[in-house]
Amino acid sequence: ALKVAIVGLPNVGKSTLFNALTKTAAAQAANYPFCTIEPNTGDVAVPEPRLDVLAAIAGSKEIIPSRITFVDIAGLVRGASKGEGLGNQFLANIRDCDAIAFVARCFVDDDITHVENRIDPISDLEIIETELMLADLESLEKRVVNVEKKAKGGDKEAQTTLRLINMALTPLRAGKPARVVEVSKEDQKAWQMLQLLTSLPALYVSNVDENSADKGNELSDLVAKRAAEDNAKAVVISAKIDSELAVLDPDEQAEFLESLGLVEPGLNRLIREAYALLGLQSYFTVGPKEARAWTIHIGDTAPQAAGVIHTDFEKGFIRAETIAYDDFVALKGEAKAREAGKLRAEGKSYVVKDGDVMNFLFSG
Ligand code: GDP
Repeated sequence: ALKVAIVGLPNVGKSTLFNALTKTAAAQAANYPFCTIEPNTGDVAVPEPRLDVLAAIAGSKEIIPSRITFVDIAGLVRGASKGEGLGNQFLANIRDCDAIAFVARCFVDDDITHVENRIDPISDLEIIETELMLADLESLEKRVVNVEKKAKGGDKEAQTTLRLINMALTPLRAGKPARVVEVSKEDQKAWQMLQLLTSLPALYVSNVDENSADKGNELSDLVAKRAAEDNAKAVVISAKIDSELAVLDPDEQAEFLESLGLVEPGLNRLIREAYALLGLQSYFTVGPKEARAWTIHIGDTAPQAAGVIHTDFEKGFIRAETIAYDDFVALKGEAKAREAGKLRAEGKSYVVKDGDVMNFLFSG
């Protein structure tokens, strides 16, 4: 499953956020640094209102959403790349993830200690990002000598790697994350092989006080501005509200949201942003048994999409029967969509669109 690391200084609200995400008390929130040691992992459903609509039309018994995994990586502090705090183990845990959510403290509360004794989300982000950049620099500088040698000897792969290492070193030496580098499509694979922490797609999460949950505050505005400069995305949440929402049943939840003037839990936005950040989208399979969302990469072809269900579907792919989501809804299901000529037969090269309702025909 695709994994998103939640990072940030101690006491910015990571555990609170993580608890809300997973609706469990597994990650104990506590008002002191270095509380959580092992990374906590939580599987989270991607909120997808379209799935409910499809299930209602088809009378599906079960609804199965897509999922992504969040990993709570606690204890990153200034000096982590040198083994301070809980040190290098954390960096290894992040390297194992597909994207990073940086939580920045944008709430003021004198009762909650701040490790650096001030509320300054930009500086919080910089401290964490600096540790990640230092870790990247160290790992590249360790490797570069060997790669240079091989490249000089005529090794084509090493030549590509060397070129990419230098592309990464330029921003890193100037104090910028590697994610600001524009990498061509051909180089993507080799670039990912560098396993840089600061080239992972990033989401800056502003944790604001309860009163700013709808529009954010001055601090979260600064974070959003910084995200644009760092080629990252930004989202505003109130971890406290979300943790309270998470334990309510749906009716109470709706009431509480309304009383706060909110349309949906901040978490839903966060999860959707994370999903988009990973370059993901969903297609659906719909029947009387279940309505199900399947996760694919934007740009995946029909056989690749079929392969997510089963590798045999990809190998033996013949064609896909496809109905656009809007058509399925407007015509109230597959039968009428077929009659209206809105069920298309698509071949191997069809690029699946977000929300397609699909059926696969395969041999074998
Ligand atoms: P972590 O160390 O980053 O995982 O932070 P925690 O989630 O453990 O939160 C540290 C403390 O801050 C806890 O006492 C939380 O209840 C509190 N906290 C988290 N988010 C908020 C918030 O939005 N507002 C306020 N006032 N307190 C919060």
